Amino acid sequence: MHGLMQGKRGLIMGVANSHSIAWGISKALAAQGAELAFTYQGEALERRVRPLAAEVNSDFLLECDVENIESVDRVFSSIEARWSGLDFVVHAIGFSDKNELKGLYADTTRDNFVRTMVISCFSFTEVAKRAANLMGEGGSMLTLTYGGSMRVMPNYNVMGVAKAGLEASVRYLSSDFGPRGIRVNAISAGPIRTLAGAGISDARAMLSWQQKNSPLRRTVTIEDVGNSALYLLSDMSKGVTGEIHYVDSGYNITSMPTLEALGR
Ligand code: NAD
Repeated sequence: MHGLMQGKRGLIMGVANSHSIAWGISKALAAQGAELAFTYQGEALERRVRPLAAEVNSDFLLECDVENIESVDRVFSSIEARWSGLDFVVHAIGFSDKNELKGLYADTTRDNFVRTMVISCFSFTEVAKRAANLMGEGGSMLTLTYGGSMRVMPNYNVMGVAKAGLEASVRYLSSDFGPRGIRVNAISAGPIRTLAGAGISDARAMLSWQQKNSPLRRTVTIEDVGNSALYLLSDMSKGVTGEIHYVDSGYNITSMPTLEALGR
């Protein structure tokens, strides 16, 4: 299948390097003809993102730190100036102090709770509002979540609480924008080795557990997530909104370790 995204223009937020989930999504979209703009968080990451953007024929790069609302506003003003409209947006942004991605959730500090919520949860609402203004009638928005929102995962702590809020935001935003034909969905990805993923204590153990205990007996790749994102961002999923779509080798349906993992 070719040209699924031909004529569509979209913003990708959250590429840090070639291991980023947002990069897996970008490759899948560009291969189907999408025209992409990228945000990067600060100069150091610009040096990594610029050559990646060039690989998918994009020179449209914009600095954005979602803690600074003026920088978010500048992104959407620049998109309006260059493209005048927008067909889709990908929000693949998350952050929490790594000192609190271990130990007890109960020890989360107020400062880190608020910062984690603003960056990992509320920024999607702020982005969605601005993106919807450029979408007119019809468009697709996507964010990234993790199963630690629904069930307790060791060390995920405050990020799990932020992802629960993010998933609820997906439902409310899809209701807000649905009458205009704008769809809002999330992919709940299984653990993947990325910069953000490495911030979670014992991430390696989580990857190995997933590989041993998910129905597909493997971890997922950024290409797996990219192809599912392609479906959710293209007209193939025109009747789908408010969904949390699991791309986790089926891990979320399991209720106990496999018999192999138990040595039976
Ligand atoms: P990544 O480190 O490659 O991407 C995280 C991105 O968030 C980076 O590009 C970083 O610059 C950006 N970011 C952080 N704070 C920001 C800020 N203040 N302003 C703007 N951007 C900011 O890691 P990733 O794993 O690709 O993460 C992408 C998304 O996927 C995150 O929401 C993450 O929670 C989610 N996710 C990751 C996994 C996993 O196992 N890696 C699993 C499920 C969901």
